[in-house]
Amino acid sequence: MMEKLVTRFRAVFGREPDIIARAPGRIEFIGNHTDYNGGPVLGAAIDRSVWVGLSVRTDGVRRFASEVKPGVVALEASGPLERLSGQKSWVNYPLGVLAAMRDTGVLAPAGFDYMAASDVPLGAGLSSSAAIELSSALAFLEATGASMDRESLVKLGRKAENEFVGVPCGILDQGVSGYGRKDHLVFIDCRGPRFDTVPLPAGSNFWIFNTHTKHALIDGLYAARHQECMEAAKVIGVTLLVDATPEMLAAAEQKLSRTAFKRARHVIDEIGRVSGAVSALRAGDLGSVGKLLLASHRSSRTWFENSCPELDFLVDSLEAEAGVYGARLTGGGFGGAAMALTSEAFGEESGQRISDAYLAKFGSRPEVIHARTGDGAALVKGSR
Ligand code: ADP
Ligand code: MG
Repeated sequence: MMEKLVTRFRAVFGREPDIIARAPGRIEFIGNHTDYNGGPVLGAAIDRSVWVGLSVRTDGVRRFASEVKPGVVALEASGPLERLSGQKSWVNYPLGVLAAMRDTGVLAPAGFDYMAASDVPLGAGLSSSAAIELSSALAFLEATGASMDRESLVKLGRKAENEFVGVPCGILDQGVSGYGRKDHLVFIDCRGPRFDTVPLPAGSNFWIFNTHTKHALIDGLYAARHQECMEAAKVIGVTLLVDATPEMLAAAEQKLSRTAFKRARHVIDEIGRVSGAVSALRAGDLGSVGKLLLASHRSSRTWFENSCPELDFLVDSLEAEAGVYGARLTGGGFGGAAMALTSEAFGEESGQRISDAYLAKFGSRPEVIHARTGDGAALVKGSR
């Protein structure tokens, strides 16, 4: 990827990038809709990254290009930071980082040439957005010589996405891209937030099956689930569901609407499953981890009702395939992607079988992506 970036940079800007940074995409491993309930989540940084090359310009012009987007977007650094629309809207990600730097009092570079290159598929549920935010942030910081600790970097990326791009994502995406480590999962206690890594036995593989389906009412469904969880917490008598135990839920069952009960059942159990997965991982017991992934999916299907026939089919098919420890929907649900944790015994042919079966049933193929764990965001080439 790095060579591709440098070649593109030279071709477009006619010089070398002085600074290169990269940040990985991520997988939501387990912890479904736990984040806004104050709970924990486990994610994995993958071995695919967004790479950003940067060279400072002295004329106060900011030129943005991406190997996956047409043209060059040139803006005056002295002008206002405004959201762009249409074909240029991808620039909102690095612009959002610049706006977040300004808002938090961190020195941002004036003029520069900027190029992004990536092997994280866009919009496939692997968070290319967090990857471009963190790689951009590291490049911008290096350009001015400003330093920033990991947690602030992660929060800067989230702020860019929440406030400038306008996507209300939790801390998972940026947290995992920032704290990722090869052969490890990232544990996030969303209430702190507090970040940690948990060893993942070597030889663990991830397979993503992106259905490209999206429920038309997805934004409304997200808001409804959020609202139902908060209603459940209120009736149970806690601020957030992370403070409710299965016993408290049982005691409040008669007072809760059926819907609120179902949502709380999922969230409270899911929080338990994340803890269970951490213990099983520490014991090197991938069999038990896999069972928790499957239980997570069933809970999403039954209690949280954020699965769909496509995701259920993928998970059921994967469960029956050799080399699969477990599988579940990954991300918000209501369409999107399913992921499987596998041994090396699950290979290209196995992925093809799943894809063929899906094609026969739904008339289109899922996008199949094989990934392993990778390291978190890093500066690759510094200017000093
Ligand atoms: P996801 O984060 O799941 O990949 P999002 O819709 O949140 O999906 O973010 C994808 C968007 O991020 C793209 O549409 C694009 O605007 C931006 N983006 C990500 N990577 C790149 C890249 N390498 N070059 C340009 N834009 C990118
Ligand atoms: Mg995203």
